[in-house]
Amino acid sequence: MARHSVLQAFYVSKVWRDFRMTLILERGLRCEHCGEMVTVAKELTAHHEIELTPDNVHDHMISLNPKLVKLVHHRCHNVIHGRFGAKRGRSVYLVYGPPLAGKKTFVTEQMMRGDLVVDMDRLFEAVSFQPSYDKPDNLLSNVMGVHNLLLDNVKTRMGKWGNAWVIGGYADKFKRERTADMIGAELVFIDASQDECLARLEADSMRMHYVSDWRGYICKWFEQYQA
Ligand SMILES: [Zn+2]
Ligand SMILES: [Zn+2]
Repeated sequence: MARHSVLQAFYVSKVWRDFRMTLILERGLRCEHCGEMVTVAKELTAHHEIELTPDNVHDHMISLNPKLVKLVHHRCHNVIHGRFGAKRGRSVYLVYGPPLAGKKTFVTEQMMRGDLVVDMDRLFEAVSFQPSYDKPDNLLSNVMGVHNLLLDNVKTRMGKWGNAWVIGGYADKFKRERTADMIGAELVFIDASQDECLARLEADSMRMHYVSDWRGYICKWFEQYQA
């Protein structure tokens, strides 16, 4: 197995998931890096003080040793590892992938309060006053206007935000890279297969009445996507 898949297999194993849940039950819903409380267990990630590798993952004195594992926020975990601009000051990310891939969840986990987030769906909600699954077509040019203004703010680094996160489908490689260049962003791909996205759509009761629209958005993304 490749390096990635050995570790992947460990993280999805029952023994690891049970170990993590036991730690959470014993220690409570608190980040051991910053000390803040969290509301749900999924806000905590388990950090190994000795980094897991394919060579040590099966050594339970390392991989399943409570003394060597800390429960921390996803964002504190990034600070610990120096990821996503945590040590480099202000950064800009363009987060792209198919509809329902989990882009918003990813940004929610990685961002900090005071970051700027530019998301078409949320901007649509803000100006249409409709729920997130209902997007009146006639407002598209106004939503694009606000979106482009915010992209321009990011490009010129206008404002006092921490990091900036631009969320979108960006299936078209040329458009994606041009936008990333323009705003000075690092590209972050949120990967999910067409089947996974469609399965999430079927399971989402909120989008029930708009299922055919959303199926269309998903299929269109995969038709247009260029890696
Ligand atoms: Zn924390
Ligand atoms: Zn870690």
